[in-house]
Amino acid sequence: LINGSILIILTSIGISYVLANATIRPMKESIEKERAFLQDASHELRTPIAVIQSRLEGLLRNPEEKIIDKYEYIEPALRESRRISRMVSNLMILTRADAGATLDKVEQFDLRKLGDDIAIIYGEFAMIQNKRFRYVPPSEEVVIEGNYENLHQLLIILMDNALKYTKDEGDIELSITSNKDKGIIRVSDNGVGIKEENLNKVFTRFFREDKARNRNNGGTGLGLSIAKWITDCHGGTISAQRRKEGGTIIEVQLPKENRNRNGKPKDME
Ligand code: ADP
Repeated sequence: LINGSILIILTSIGISYVLANATIRPMKESIEKERAFLQDASHELRTPIAVIQSRLEGLLRNPEEKIIDKYEYIEPALRESRRISRMVSNLMILTRADAGATLDKVEQFDLRKLGDDIAIIYGEFAMIQNKRFRYVPPSEEVVIEGNYENLHQLLIILMDNALKYTKDEGDIELSITSNKDKGIIRVSDNGVGIKEENLNKVFTRFFREDKARNRNNGGTGLGLSIAKWITDCHGGTISAQRRKEGGTIIEVQLPKENRNRNGKPKDME
């Protein structure tokens, strides 16, 4: 009888341990993820702040110089302060996402309208940057349920990247197509491309293939994480592919009927 009781007690301790572990582990993981995010964010902010500080100190060192001679101090400080400002806005979006934010408003609209609006903006941007831009609108309307503003933001991220990672006279294309139940947006370029092993990693916060290059072009390493969150909120998928001819394709597939409209995205990197 005593042996039986001991066995029961040990079994219940074992079960409680397993159950407690199953509850605690996800909590631990989430705290660890939050800690890593804060650490990365602080680290990323430290560099531009250090640049600003050193340039301002440089300005103070030679007070007798004319302002025109101080360009080398002012320009980097201004560039880095703009980067901090972009990074803080992006961090605020991701913090809201982590707190469970979803789409403000879900309504039906034609993806063609979104494509047309983006094409007007980027036709001009591309020309200024000496790049070629082609827009392939859908042959018929592609009505989806979603948030226009969020998808506009997503396309700005993808188009800005296409411009950023493409050399002078590069080609950028935006196309919108559809199948029976999905709207498909593709942004492709013939720029530097993404290494095969990094195609999934680019959607991770702060991931950058080349930190130095990214720093020079003012990137924050957060754009594609936001793009993924917006896609998740629409119940869609986003993927990066390598173009055979060189360059990148980012493809977003959005269900025409958004069953996820009140739900949280399944997974947030
Ligand atoms: P970033 O601010 O660095 O552009 P993103 O999150 O938008 O941040 O992108 C993450 C990384 O993915 C970039 O640093 C870059 O290495 C890579 N990447 C994104 N888009 C492209 C593209 N169109 N061509 C080549 N590399 C890209």
